[in-house]
Amino acid sequence: MSIDLKGEIHASREEMVSLRRDLHAHPELAFQEERTSRLVARRLEALGLQVSTGVAITGVVGLLEGGEAGPTLMLRADMDALPVHETSDKPYTSQNPGVMHACGHDGHVAVLLAVAAILARHRDALKGRVKLIFQPAEESMAGAALMIDQGVMDNPPVDRVMGFHLWNSLPLGQIGVKPGVIFASADEFRLAVKGRGGHGALPHLAVDPVTMSAQVISALQTLISRERPPLKEAVLTIGSIHGGTAFNVIADQVEMRGTLRAFDQGLRHTLLERIPQVVAGVCAALQGTFEFQHVRGCPPVENDPAVAAFVHGLASRVVGQANVPPLEPATVGDDMALFLREAPGCYFLVGSSNPAAGLDAPHHSSSFDFDEDALGIAAEILLRGALEYLG
Ligand SMILES: [Zn+2]
Ligand SMILES: [Zn+2]
Repeated sequence: MSIDLKGEIHASREEMVSLRRDLHAHPELAFQEERTSRLVARRLEALGLQVSTGVAITGVVGLLEGGEAGPTLMLRADMDALPVHETSDKPYTSQNPGVMHACGHDGHVAVLLAVAAILARHRDALKGRVKLIFQPAEESMAGAALMIDQGVMDNPPVDRVMGFHLWNSLPLGQIGVKPGVIFASADEFRLAVKGRGGHGALPHLAVDPVTMSAQVISALQTLISRERPPLKEAVLTIGSIHGGTAFNVIADQVEMRGTLRAFDQGLRHTLLERIPQVVAGVCAALQGTFEFQHVRGCPPVENDPAVAAFVHGLASRVVGQANVPPLEPATVGDDMALFLREAPGCYFLVGSSNPAAGLDAPHHSSSFDFDEDALGIAAEILLRGALEYLG
């Protein structure tokens, strides 16, 4: 193929960076990505793509038909920001107080739009089509499920999925890709431990939910230390606990919120079943009651071995074999997992930290930022992937 990819990506760098900075300055929370979604739709329409808006509330899908018939490749970018107050004083700092692109999704959108523009110029070289999806609400783990419910994998059916995340745990210039599970399942649950309030000096006349909660938390950790097979990793965290109003009052109830992470789908389901059973036992022993609610969750992010090998090959050609080091799975979650259960695909990580430039804060922190040179690397891998798969 005689396309000068590096040249075209280099030429679009400035546009990618300015778009990323514009999105960074105007972050929007899950399912509120209205400005972002309008901007995406306008740009895709200008490229002559078939555009659907309002998919999963604020999602956008662009369909690029190639010159000849062939399979459908889906490329995914997530668009939402986080409820974090940005602390930097960069010229593109968030203008929306309390909301910040602290995960890099601004970069994902900019890359996918640049990829769309370059592919649109070479559509005649494609045997098949590319479905570009701009997903809302990744951080709340609700966007992918809703897009799938609304038929994003059909009409035309998706044969292969690719997506990436900018990744500050890897230095700029490195790519993380592996077959099988790369991210854990992520589930959110809520617990209310209920007793009977009373006087702090007269506990025998009350049922103390604070004491009960202490035992509930300890007992829940035994799911990890005693019931999880030692070679299957899992994490259970109670991240929030609230109860009581005064030092000398026994509360009526304590509310907790927690998360469960696992790399094995079977273990995930077993532990999710065991949590309310353990809580029930402890509460019954201490004369209390409880309510358990599994709020939402998504399965582990699992790459298809053949597509992961294909992406590993692409990455090696873009950054060199030595810069595609073995990747350890991470206990974070991503609802990209759901697309990967619908069609074989690969989610890969694009190194984006640059400590010398102060660009190495962790994702979700109020000082998060990434090295914008990572945008071109991500774009090149997606473009090579599309051109080779549909070549
Ligand atoms: Zn995130
Ligand atoms: Zn993210």
